[in-house]
Amino acid sequence: MGKTILILGGGTAGVAAANVLADVLPPGNQVVLVDRSPVHLFLASLPLLIVGRRRPAQLTRELSLLEGRGLKFIQTEVQSLDLVGRAVLTQAGPLTYDFLFIALGAERRTDQIPGQKEWAFNPFDLQEAQELAARIARLHRGRIVLFVPSLPFTGEVAPYEIMLLLHDYFRRRGVRSQVELVLITPEERPFSFAPQKISSHMEQLLGRAGITLLTGRRVHSVNKAGEVLLDQGRLAADVVVAIPHHQAPACLRSSPLAGPEGWLDVDRHSLETRFPGVYALGDVVGLRLSTGHWLPKVGFFAHYQAEVAARNLALQLSGRDPAFKFLGGAAGASMLTAFRRGCFVSLGAYSAPPTMTVSNPNPWAYLVKTIFEKYWLTAWF
Ligand SMILES: Cc1cc2nc3c(=O)[nH]c(=O)nc-3n(C[C@H](O)[C@H](O)[C@H](O)COP(=O)(O)OP(=O)(O)OC[C@H]3O[C@@H](n4cnc5c(N)ncnc54)[C@H](O)[C@@H]3O)c2cc1C
Repeated sequence: MGKTILILGGGTAGVAAANVLADVLPPGNQVVLVDRSPVHLFLASLPLLIVGRRRPAQLTRELSLLEGRGLKFIQTEVQSLDLVGRAVLTQAGPLTYDFLFIALGAERRTDQIPGQKEWAFNPFDLQEAQELAARIARLHRGRIVLFVPSLPFTGEVAPYEIMLLLHDYFRRRGVRSQVELVLITPEERPFSFAPQKISSHMEQLLGRAGITLLTGRRVHSVNKAGEVLLDQGRLAADVVVAIPHHQAPACLRSSPLAGPEGWLDVDRHSLETRFPGVYALGDVVGLRLSTGHWLPKVGFFAHYQAEVAARNLALQLSGRDPAFKFLGGAAGASMLTAFRRGCFVSLGAYSAPPTMTVSNPNPWAYLVKTIFEKYWLTAWF
């Protein structure tokens, strides 16, 4: 009898898993994808939207389009898991499964730091990213403060990309000398999981762009007057941009799959949880590196993990042994540094110590990232 594969989440990992399964699953099996949102959002393009280089329609796709690939899409909220009964409780009722792919990402909160929700823009939210774009379009002088409240967060490159793109944006408008850019992070150095030379390279990139970087600093609150209150001192700002606090989704934190910090425990190579046939993929996973840092929550890893789990499941359902392993590597990723420029980034997260390279800015890295965006939003939908 055919099996039911239930995918929770239509973000990067869920969409990749759905598409790979559509290609490789033996006939007769059914794939069901669940998401609370009717649309898939390509998060990696939000920094370009903030500087006016993308419109929302260019980074969103209706998840129902996936039905063209032979699967069923259900728009509903996941509430809890019944791992023993092999069912997922949703607002639309229980959904049973034979195999489960959990790809619900990270829950993003803006209510942990007083004033953040009210007085800071959340650049990881489509609506607020548009409002931020409109705000900076009206700004001719002043100070923009972007802060990271806590670790881990998704898209490690995003705060740097946003600041470097803002630098380029104001430079093109001829007002860069009147706009001060300040980036605050609790990390002791940029990309603290990576070798020191990568952090120094990043500091140089930011320094050359005249962006002030405050490391090892925590923000305590934001007030109506636009002041950002730090562990020591305060900074007045004309625009405050704040990355949300990230945590495991509420519906999973108390499940038997969750580790002590709420992120899901999986085998680091197969992504299978301790419940056979239940896999967790992408940002929802909590894996530690040899340095003790979290495995970076990036789309590249979410995508590769989905490929591994989907292909192994297809092999298993064809009576063969799983052959694919997630190895913690990524090459050909890009971090944007300006409109039409970026750096190539590669990662070897499972190496001890982890490895990372960041090239000098060049036009090719920008091109690769934008081609990948087009590929993702056309090939998968
Ligand atoms: C601004 C920004 C820039 C980034 N840039 C890059 C980059 O350049 N390169 C890179 O590799 N990565 C980048 N990332 C990170 C990358 O986007 C994420 O790592 C990736 O999207 C994680 O995929 P995911 O499937 O685990 O989670 P998500 O893509 O977040 O998807 C989770 C899905 O689950 C759904 N969901 C959540 N809870 C529920 C529930 N209870 N019920 C129903 N549905 C639910 C959500 O609606 C969502 O569709 C960036 C991220 C951001 C925010």
